[in-house]
Amino acid sequence: MLDYLVVGLGLAGTAFCELLERQGKSFVCITDRSQQASVVAGGLYNPVVLKRFTPAWRAQEQLQIALPFYEQLEQKLETKLDYKLPVLRRFASIEEQNNWFQAADRPQLQPFLSLNIRENHNPLLDAPFGFGEVLYTGRVATKILLESYTAYLREKGCLQENTFDYGNLEVAPDRVSYQTFTARKIVFACGFGLKENPYFQYLPLNGTKGELLTIKSPELKEKNVIKSSVFIIPLGNELYRVGATYKWKDKTNTPTEASRNELLQKLDVFLKADYEVVAHVAGIRPTVTDRRPLVGRHPEHSNVFVLNGLGSRGVLIAPYAAHQLLQHIEQGSGLQGDMDIERFAKKYMQA
Ligand SMILES: Cc1cc2nc3c(=O)[nH]c(=O)nc-3n(C[C@H](O)[C@H](O)[C@H](O)COP(=O)(O)OP(=O)(O)OC[C@H]3O[C@@H](n4cnc5c(N)ncnc54)[C@H](O)[C@@H]3O)c2cc1C
Repeated sequence: MLDYLVVGLGLAGTAFCELLERQGKSFVCITDRSQQASVVAGGLYNPVVLKRFTPAWRAQEQLQIALPFYEQLEQKLETKLDYKLPVLRRFASIEEQNNWFQAADRPQLQPFLSLNIRENHNPLLDAPFGFGEVLYTGRVATKILLESYTAYLREKGCLQENTFDYGNLEVAPDRVSYQTFTARKIVFACGFGLKENPYFQYLPLNGTKGELLTIKSPELKEKNVIKSSVFIIPLGNELYRVGATYKWKDKTNTPTEASRNELLQKLDVFLKADYEVVAHVAGIRPTVTDRRPLVGRHPEHSNVFVLNGLGSRGVLIAPYAAHQLLQHIEQGSGLQGDMDIERFAKKYMQA
Protein backbone atom coordinates (compact mmCIF):
# COMPACT_ATOMS: atom_id res chain seq x y z
CA MET A 1 0.00 0.00 0.00
CA LEU A 2 1.29 3.46 -0.97
CA ASP A 3 1.13 6.37 1.42
CA TYR A 4 -0.26 8.73 -1.23
CA LEU A 5 -1.70 9.04 -4.71
CA VAL A 6 -1.19 12.53 -6.12
CA VAL A 7 -3.20 13.67 -9.14
CA GLY A 8 -1.67 16.51 -11.20
CA LEU A 9 1.94 17.54 -11.67
CA GLY A 10 1.89 21.31 -12.05
CA LEU A 11 3.55 23.58 -9.49
CA ALA A 12 1.18 22.35 -6.76
CA GLY A 13 1.69 18.63 -7.45
CA THR A 14 5.44 19.07 -7.83
CA ALA A 15 5.71 20.82 -4.47
CA PHE A 16 3.60 18.18 -2.76
CA CYS A 17 5.44 15.18 -4.30
CA GLU A 18 8.78 16.71 -3.43
CA LEU A 19 7.78 17.28 0.19
CA LEU A 20 6.47 13.72 0.36
CA GLU A 21 9.80 12.47 -0.83
CA ARG A 22 11.69 14.61 1.67
CA GLN A 23 9.59 13.00 4.41
CA GLY A 24 10.22 9.49 3.11
CA LYS A 25 6.60 8.84 2.08
CA SER A 26 5.77 6.50 -0.81
CA PHE A 27 3.61 7.87 -3.62
CA VAL A 28 2.58 7.64 -7.25
CA CYS A 29 1.68 10.74 -9.24
CA ILE A 30 -0.85 10.54 -12.08
CA THR A 31 -0.85 13.47 -14.48
CA ASP A 32 -1.74 14.50 -17.99
CA ARG A 33 -1.20 17.67 -20.01
CA SER A 34 -4.77 18.94 -20.06
CA GLN A 35 -3.81 22.03 -18.03
CA GLN A 36 -0.91 24.27 -18.93
CA ALA A 37 -0.74 27.04 -16.31
CA SER A 38 2.50 25.93 -14.69
CA VAL A 39 4.18 25.24 -18.02
CA VAL A 40 3.40 28.62 -19.58
CA ALA A 41 3.69 30.78 -16.42
CA GLY A 42 5.93 33.83 -16.44
CA GLY A 43 7.47 32.31 -13.31
CA LEU A 44 7.84 35.64 -11.50
CA TYR A 45 7.76 35.86 -7.76
CA ASN A 46 7.32 39.18 -6.07
CA PRO A 47 5.86 39.93 -2.66
CA VAL A 48 3.88 43.02 -3.69
CA VAL A 49 0.69 43.56 -5.70
CA LEU A 50 2.11 46.17 -8.03
CA LYS A 51 -1.18 47.41 -9.40
CA ARG A 52 -2.36 48.59 -6.01
CA PHE A 53 0.90 48.81 -4.03
CA THR A 54 -0.34 46.38 -1.40
CA PRO A 55 1.45 43.39 0.15
CA ALA A 56 0.60 40.07 -1.48
CA TRP A 57 -1.20 37.56 0.75
CA ARG A 58 1.23 36.04 3.30
CA ALA A 59 4.12 36.81 0.98
CA GLN A 60 6.79 36.96 3.66
CA GLU A 61 5.94 33.50 5.00
CA GLN A 62 5.78 32.16 1.47
CA LEU A 63 9.20 33.54 0.55
CA GLN A 64 10.69 31.91 3.62
CA ILE A 65 9.48 28.50 2.48
CA ALA A 66 9.65 28.87 -1.30
CA LEU A 67 13.22 30.14 -1.74
CA PRO A 68 14.94 27.30 0.18
CA PHE A 69 12.52 24.85 -1.44
CA TYR A 70 13.61 25.82 -4.97
CA GLU A 71 17.25 26.00 -3.92
CA GLN A 72 17.12 22.40 -2.69
CA LEU A 73 15.38 21.34 -5.88
CA GLU A 74 18.09 23.01 -7.96
CA GLN A 75 20.69 20.93 -6.20
CA LYS A 76 18.72 17.72 -6.48
CA LEU A 77 17.86 18.15 -10.17
CA GLU A 78 21.23 19.78 -10.95
CA THR A 79 19.36 22.45 -12.88
CA LYS A 80 19.24 26.23 -12.49
CA LEU A 81 15.67 27.20 -11.59
CA ASP A 82 15.65 30.40 -9.53
CA TYR A 83 16.94 33.55 -11.23
CA LYS A 84 17.13 36.44 -8.77
CA LEU A 85 16.04 39.45 -10.80
CA PRO A 86 15.10 42.98 -9.76
CA VAL A 87 11.52 43.91 -10.63
CA LEU A 88 11.26 47.57 -11.65
CA ARG A 89 7.81 49.17 -11.54
CA ARG A 90 7.63 51.85 -14.23
CA PHE A 91 6.00 55.07 -13.01
CA ALA A 92 3.52 56.59 -15.41
CA SER A 93 3.44 59.95 -13.55
CA ILE A 94 4.80 61.96 -10.62
CA GLU A 95 1.64 61.02 -8.75
CA GLU A 96 2.57 57.35 -9.01
CA GLN A 97 6.02 58.13 -7.63
CA ASN A 98 4.36 59.78 -4.64
CA ASN A 99 2.07 56.79 -4.16
CA TRP A 100 5.14 54.56 -4.14
CA PHE A 101 6.78 56.57 -1.36
CA GLN A 102 3.60 56.51 0.68
CA ALA A 103 3.33 52.74 0.23
CA ALA A 104 7.00 52.20 1.09
CA ASP A 105 6.37 53.92 4.43
CA ARG A 106 3.80 51.31 5.47
CA PRO A 107 5.37 48.77 7.86
CA GLN A 108 4.15 45.75 5.87
CA LEU A 109 5.67 47.03 2.64
CA GLN A 110 8.83 48.61 4.01
CA PRO A 111 10.97 45.49 3.57
CA PHE A 112 9.92 45.09 -0.05
CA LEU A 113 9.86 48.54 -1.66
CA SER A 114 13.13 50.38 -2.22
CA LEU A 115 13.07 54.09 -1.42
CA ASN A 116 15.53 54.96 -4.18
CA ILE A 117 13.84 55.90 -7.42
CA ARG A 118 15.76 54.23 -10.24
CA GLU A 119 16.36 56.45 -13.25
CA ASN A 120 15.96 54.93 -16.65
CA HIS A 121 19.28 54.21 -18.35
CA ASN A 122 17.94 52.15 -21.21
CA PRO A 123 17.32 54.40 -24.25
CA LEU A 124 14.99 51.78 -25.72
CA LEU A 125 12.54 52.07 -22.83
CA ASP A 126 10.28 55.07 -22.42
CA ALA A 127 10.22 55.78 -18.66
CA PRO A 128 10.62 59.53 -17.96
CA PHE A 129 9.44 59.16 -14.34
CA GLY A 130 11.79 56.29 -13.57
CA PHE A 131 11.12 53.09 -11.69
CA GLY A 132 10.50 51.82 -8.17
CA GLU A 133 12.43 48.70 -7.30
CA VAL A 134 10.76 45.77 -5.53
CA LEU A 135 13.09 43.66 -3.36
CA TYR A 136 13.18 39.86 -2.93
CA THR A 137 12.00 39.16 -6.45
CA GLY A 138 12.96 36.74 -9.19
CA ARG A 139 11.87 34.23 -11.77
CA VAL A 140 11.55 30.47 -11.44
CA ALA A 141 11.95 28.67 -14.75
CA THR A 142 8.72 26.73 -14.34
CA LYS A 143 8.79 24.88 -17.65
CA ILE A 144 12.30 23.59 -16.99
CA LEU A 145 11.33 22.73 -13.43
CA LEU A 146 8.36 20.65 -14.62
CA GLU A 147 10.32 18.94 -17.37
CA SER A 148 13.14 18.02 -14.99
CA TYR A 149 10.84 16.91 -12.21
CA THR A 150 8.70 14.85 -14.59
CA ALA A 151 11.84 13.13 -15.85
CA TYR A 152 12.96 12.56 -12.26
CA LEU A 153 9.68 10.91 -11.21
CA ARG A 154 9.57 8.90 -14.43
CA GLU A 155 13.03 7.55 -13.71
CA LYS A 156 12.03 6.75 -10.12
CA GLY A 157 9.08 4.77 -11.47
CA CYS A 158 6.42 6.73 -9.61
CA LEU A 159 4.77 8.60 -12.47
CA GLN A 160 1.74 7.60 -14.54
CA GLU A 161 1.29 9.87 -17.55
CA ASN A 162 -2.39 9.64 -18.35
CA THR A 163 -5.72 11.20 -17.44
CA PHE A 164 -7.12 10.27 -14.06
CA ASP A 165 -10.54 8.66 -14.48
CA TYR A 166 -12.65 9.62 -11.48
CA GLY A 167 -15.08 6.77 -12.21
CA ASN A 168 -12.34 4.25 -11.31
CA LEU A 169 -11.60 5.68 -7.89
CA GLU A 170 -12.89 3.77 -4.89
CA VAL A 171 -12.77 5.52 -1.56
CA ALA A 172 -12.98 3.45 1.64
CA PRO A 173 -12.55 4.84 5.17
CA ASP A 174 -8.94 3.62 5.48
CA ARG A 175 -7.74 3.58 1.86
CA VAL A 176 -8.33 4.62 -1.72
CA SER A 177 -8.02 2.29 -4.71
CA TYR A 178 -7.41 3.30 -8.28
CA GLN A 179 -6.65 0.74 -11.00
CA THR A 180 -3.76 -1.32 -9.61
CA PHE A 181 -2.91 1.18 -6.86
CA THR A 182 -3.97 1.27 -3.25
CA ALA A 183 -2.98 4.20 -1.07
CA ARG A 184 -3.78 5.56 2.34
CA LYS A 185 -4.65 8.99 0.93
CA ILE A 186 -5.23 10.84 -2.30
CA VAL A 187 -4.39 14.49 -3.01
CA PHE A 188 -5.85 16.30 -6.02
CA ALA A 189 -3.60 19.02 -7.41
CA CYS A 190 -5.29 19.40 -10.79
CA GLY A 191 -5.33 23.18 -11.29
CA PHE A 192 -8.34 24.24 -13.35
CA GLY A 193 -8.93 20.51 -14.04
CA LEU A 194 -10.63 20.48 -10.63
CA LYS A 195 -13.79 21.45 -12.49
CA GLU A 196 -14.05 17.82 -13.67
CA ASN A 197 -13.53 16.39 -10.20
CA PRO A 198 -16.82 15.12 -8.70
CA TYR A 199 -15.43 15.31 -5.15
CA PHE A 200 -14.72 19.04 -5.23
CA GLN A 201 -17.14 20.52 -7.70
CA TYR A 202 -18.78 22.57 -4.99
CA LEU A 203 -15.64 24.70 -4.57
CA PRO A 204 -15.80 28.15 -6.22
CA LEU A 205 -12.89 27.79 -8.64
CA ASN A 206 -13.32 30.32 -11.46
CA GLY A 207 -10.30 30.03 -13.71
CA THR A 208 -8.73 33.03 -15.42
CA LYS A 209 -7.15 32.59 -18.80
CA GLY A 210 -3.75 34.19 -19.33
CA GLU A 211 -1.64 34.58 -22.46
CA LEU A 212 2.03 35.41 -22.83
CA LEU A 213 4.31 36.24 -25.75
CA THR A 214 8.02 35.62 -26.10
CA ILE A 215 9.82 38.29 -28.10
CA LYS A 216 13.36 38.41 -29.43
CA SER A 217 15.08 41.79 -29.33
CA PRO A 218 18.86 41.82 -29.82
CA GLU A 219 19.09 45.58 -29.20
CA LEU A 220 17.05 45.84 -25.97
CA LYS A 221 19.74 44.49 -23.62
CA GLU A 222 17.60 44.81 -20.48
CA LYS A 223 18.59 42.78 -17.42
CA ASN A 224 15.71 43.76 -15.08
CA VAL A 225 12.08 42.73 -15.08
CA ILE A 226 10.11 45.79 -16.16
CA LYS A 227 6.54 46.12 -14.93
CA SER A 228 4.27 48.58 -16.68
CA SER A 229 0.79 47.67 -17.92
CA VAL A 230 2.53 44.44 -18.97
CA PHE A 231 5.65 42.71 -17.67
CA ILE A 232 8.84 42.35 -19.70
CA ILE A 233 10.81 39.44 -18.23
CA PRO A 234 14.37 38.83 -19.48
CA LEU A 235 15.05 35.17 -20.27
CA GLY A 236 18.58 35.48 -21.68
CA ASN A 237 19.68 34.93 -25.29
CA GLU A 238 17.95 38.19 -26.33
CA LEU A 239 14.58 36.68 -25.43
CA TYR A 240 11.93 38.34 -23.24
CA ARG A 241 8.58 37.16 -22.03
CA VAL A 242 5.76 39.69 -22.31
CA GLY A 243 2.49 39.29 -20.45
CA ALA A 244 0.06 38.57 -19.25
CA THR A 245 -3.62 38.94 -20.12
CA TYR A 246 -6.57 38.20 -17.82
CA LYS A 247 -9.76 36.79 -19.41
CA TRP A 248 -12.66 35.30 -17.55
CA LYS A 249 -14.92 33.71 -20.22
CA ASP A 250 -12.73 31.62 -22.49
CA LYS A 251 -11.50 28.49 -20.63
CA THR A 252 -9.34 27.01 -23.39
CA ASN A 253 -5.56 26.81 -23.64
CA THR A 254 -5.64 28.26 -27.15
CA PRO A 255 -3.72 31.49 -27.83
CA THR A 256 -5.85 34.19 -29.48
CA GLU A 257 -5.13 36.98 -31.95
CA ALA A 258 -7.04 39.47 -29.77
CA SER A 259 -4.80 38.84 -26.74
CA ARG A 260 -1.68 39.01 -28.85
CA ASN A 261 -2.75 42.42 -30.15
CA GLU A 262 -3.64 43.57 -26.64
CA LEU A 263 -0.20 42.63 -25.31
CA LEU A 264 1.63 44.25 -28.22
CA GLN A 265 -0.36 47.46 -27.91
CA LYS A 266 0.51 47.73 -24.22
CA LEU A 267 4.13 46.87 -24.90
CA ASP A 268 4.54 49.47 -27.62
CA VAL A 269 3.60 52.22 -25.15
CA PHE A 270 6.98 51.94 -23.44
CA LEU A 271 9.19 49.68 -25.57
CA LYS A 272 11.04 51.48 -28.35
CA ALA A 273 13.20 48.57 -29.48
CA ASP A 274 12.66 46.45 -32.59
CA TYR A 275 11.52 42.93 -31.80
CA GLU A 276 9.89 39.88 -33.28
CA VAL A 277 7.34 37.63 -31.60
CA VAL A 278 8.75 34.10 -31.44
CA ALA A 279 6.21 32.31 -29.21
CA HIS A 280 2.68 32.74 -27.89
CA VAL A 281 1.17 30.56 -25.15
CA ALA A 282 -1.96 30.39 -23.02
CA GLY A 283 -3.15 28.66 -19.85
CA ILE A 284 -5.84 28.84 -17.18
CA ARG A 285 -4.91 30.15 -13.74
CA PRO A 286 -6.80 28.32 -10.98
CA THR A 287 -8.37 31.43 -9.46
CA VAL A 288 -10.92 31.45 -6.64
CA THR A 289 -13.76 33.88 -5.87
CA ASP A 290 -12.16 35.00 -2.58
CA ARG A 291 -8.60 34.94 -4.03
CA ARG A 292 -7.30 32.43 -1.52
CA PRO A 293 -6.02 28.88 -2.12
CA LEU A 294 -8.26 25.84 -1.81
CA VAL A 295 -6.49 23.47 0.55
CA GLY A 296 -7.69 20.74 2.86
CA ARG A 297 -9.70 17.63 3.53
CA HIS A 298 -12.91 16.59 1.82
CA PRO A 299 -15.93 17.26 4.08
CA GLU A 300 -16.95 13.57 4.13
CA HIS A 301 -13.98 11.48 2.98
CA SER A 302 -11.20 11.85 5.52
CA ASN A 303 -8.50 10.50 3.17
CA VAL A 304 -9.32 12.73 0.13
CA PHE A 305 -7.55 16.11 -0.10
CA VAL A 306 -7.26 19.09 -2.41
CA LEU A 307 -4.34 21.43 -3.13
CA ASN A 308 -5.52 24.10 -5.51
CA GLY A 309 -6.50 27.74 -6.04
CA LEU A 310 -2.97 29.09 -6.47
CA GLY A 311 -4.35 31.84 -8.72
CA SER A 312 -1.75 34.06 -10.36
CA ARG A 313 0.94 33.42 -7.73
CA GLY A 314 1.65 29.72 -7.94
CA VAL A 315 5.43 30.05 -7.73
CA LEU A 316 5.36 31.43 -4.19
CA ILE A 317 2.17 29.79 -2.95
CA ALA A 318 2.76 26.19 -4.14
CA PRO A 319 5.59 25.24 -1.74
CA TYR A 320 3.89 27.09 1.11
CA ALA A 321 0.45 25.54 0.62
CA ALA A 322 1.92 22.07 0.02
CA HIS A 323 3.90 22.39 3.23
CA GLN A 324 0.80 23.48 5.17
CA LEU A 325 -1.26 20.61 3.77
CA LEU A 326 1.32 17.94 4.51
CA GLN A 327 1.79 19.20 8.08
CA HIS A 328 -1.97 19.20 8.47
CA ILE A 329 -2.31 15.60 7.27
CA GLU A 330 0.73 14.10 8.95
CA GLN A 331 0.98 16.11 12.15
CA GLY A 332 -2.58 17.28 12.57
CA SER A 333 -1.54 20.93 12.62
CA GLY A 334 -4.39 23.32 11.87
CA LEU A 335 -4.72 24.84 8.42
CA GLN A 336 -4.98 28.60 8.22
CA GLY A 337 -8.66 29.44 7.96
CA ASP A 338 -8.30 31.68 4.94
CA MET A 339 -6.99 28.81 2.78
CA ASP A 340 -8.83 25.88 4.37
CA ILE A 341 -11.70 24.59 2.19
CA GLU A 342 -13.64 24.25 5.42
CA ARG A 343 -14.73 27.84 4.70
CA PHE A 344 -16.93 26.48 1.91
CA ALA A 345 -18.49 23.66 3.97
CA LYS A 346 -21.93 25.28 3.65
CA LYS A 347 -21.68 25.11 -0.13
CA TYR A 348 -21.00 21.38 0.13
CA MET A 349 -24.10 20.85 2.25
CA GLN A 350 -26.19 22.81 -0.25
CA ALA A 351 -24.81 21.01 -3.33
C1 LIG B 1 -0.16 33.18 -18.66
C2 LIG B 1 0.10 32.88 -17.23
C3 LIG B 1 1.15 33.53 -16.57
C4 LIG B 1 1.42 33.25 -15.24
N1 LIG B 1 2.48 33.87 -14.65
C5 LIG B 1 2.77 33.59 -13.35
C6 LIG B 1 3.90 34.18 -12.74
O1 LIG B 1 4.67 34.94 -13.36
N2 LIG B 1 4.15 33.87 -11.43
C7 LIG B 1 3.35 33.01 -10.71
O2 LIG B 1 3.62 32.78 -9.54
N3 LIG B 1 2.27 32.44 -11.29
C8 LIG B 1 1.96 32.71 -12.57
N4 LIG B 1 0.87 32.14 -13.15
C9 LIG B 1 -0.02 31.31 -12.31
C10 LIG B 1 0.53 29.91 -12.15
O3 LIG B 1 0.81 29.41 -13.41
C11 LIG B 1 -0.47 29.04 -11.41
O4 LIG B 1 -0.77 29.59 -10.14
C12 LIG B 1 0.06 27.62 -11.19
O5 LIG B 1 0.72 27.17 -12.31
C13 LIG B 1 -1.04 26.65 -10.84
O6 LIG B 1 -0.44 25.40 -10.62
P1 LIG B 1 -1.28 24.09 -10.37
O7 LIG B 1 -0.31 23.00 -10.19
O8 LIG B 1 -2.30 24.32 -9.32
O9 LIG B 1 -2.14 23.89 -11.72
P2 LIG B 1 -1.69 23.44 -13.18
O10 LIG B 1 -0.44 24.09 -13.59
O11 LIG B 1 -2.90 23.65 -14.03
O12 LIG B 1 -1.37 21.91 -13.04
C14 LIG B 1 -2.37 20.93 -12.88
C15 LIG B 1 -1.87 19.62 -13.46
O13 LIG B 1 -2.87 18.62 -13.25
C16 LIG B 1 -3.11 17.94 -14.46
N5 LIG B 1 -4.48 17.40 -14.45
C17 LIG B 1 -5.64 18.07 -14.37
N6 LIG B 1 -6.69 17.20 -14.40
C18 LIG B 1 -6.14 15.96 -14.51
C19 LIG B 1 -6.69 14.64 -14.60
N7 LIG B 1 -8.01 14.38 -14.58
N8 LIG B 1 -5.83 13.60 -14.72
C20 LIG B 1 -4.49 13.78 -14.74
N9 LIG B 1 -3.92 15.01 -14.64
C21 LIG B 1 -4.74 16.08 -14.53
C22 LIG B 1 -2.93 19.02 -15.51
O14 LIG B 1 -2.77 18.54 -16.82
C23 LIG B 1 -1.68 19.71 -14.98
O15 LIG B 1 -0.53 19.01 -15.34
C24 LIG B 1 0.60 32.35 -14.51
C25 LIG B 1 -0.44 31.68 -15.16
C26 LIG B 1 -0.69 31.93 -16.51
C27 LIG B 1 -1.78 31.19 -17.20
